[in-house]
Amino acid sequence: PAIESKRLRIAMQKSGRLSVDSQALFSSCGLKINLREQRLIAHVENMPIDILRVRDDDIPGLVMDGVCDLGIIGENVLEEVSLQRQLDQENFDYEVLARLDFGGCRLSIAVPQEENYQGVQSLDGKTIATTYPRLLARFLKQQGVNARIVMLTGSVEVAPRAGLADAICDLVSTGATLEANGLKEAEVIYRSKAVLIQRKGLTDAGQLKLIRKLMPRIQGVMQANESKYIMLHAPRSRLDEVIALLPGAENPTLLPLAGNNDVVAIHVVSSETLFWETMEQLKALGASSILVLPIEKMME
Ligand code: ATP
Ligand code: MG
Repeated sequence: PAIESKRLRIAMQKSGRLSVDSQALFSSCGLKINLREQRLIAHVENMPIDILRVRDDDIPGLVMDGVCDLGIIGENVLEEVSLQRQLDQENFDYEVLARLDFGGCRLSIAVPQEENYQGVQSLDGKTIATTYPRLLARFLKQQGVNARIVMLTGSVEVAPRAGLADAICDLVSTGATLEANGLKEAEVIYRSKAVLIQRKGLTDAGQLKLIRKLMPRIQGVMQANESKYIMLHAPRSRLDEVIALLPGAENPTLLPLAGNNDVVAIHVVSSETLFWETMEQLKALGASSILVLPIEKMME
């Protein structure tokens, strides 16, 4: 008799900036999840997978310790935990299966707006507050800067005004929070996205097979997110010019229109969207009925 595989355990953030996109990715990949609020573990109904919903800070450790098989986590947290575990001589092994298309942000050093910032040397002798002491220490060391690091787990952006620090090192996406706190971005020290990681030493054949089944789906969902299906009618006489304007359309599909030999329908799967400017140029060439549609899934 076949030995039954263990269920695959995937860790995701319970609630926060990564949770909605992580959940959307799972469901786009065909996982049917019954996410009852407040549950630590959610069972996937149609595959042998359990989803663990935890604080994002716990995800790298859960994977590195082999408690979870896969995890979705921001590279910023993953790298910070790795550096810390390396220092503590704990296991920090993992494998990155995919860099995902969400959770983008940067870890930056910011200083008070009124400060005359002249480059990293301006930070010498300063105190910098951060939730990412290891990533910051690595940057400062690389730059040959001597600064004091103060660890804060929250409200980092108010530290300078509160007199706790001269500068901060925190996550930025738009910069609005910095501005609201009278700070300006001085150095980007790390660019981050969400990644899917796997624990080292995963050997269960059934689990490996399941992962090999999921990966093309994840790639397909990401590819579809960036792609568009473009349809339009174009005059046969301007076909070459029209096709030249379509992004990534080496071999478009041409379809005849019933009862009109001067016009053809063009269908293209494009790796990018059509901008209004291009649509206006197409129209000027005599194109009409221009449609740009989202693609839900794709497999090549
Ligand atoms: P938890 O309660 O799980 O510990 P958290 O408060 O630590 O949550 P979030 O603010 O939800 O974390 O952010 C989670 C991750 O989202 C970040 O570590 C980062 O990778 C990513 N992220 C994307 N954009 C931003 C942003 N503008 N600010 C902060 N994090 C961002
Ligand atoms: Mg956290």
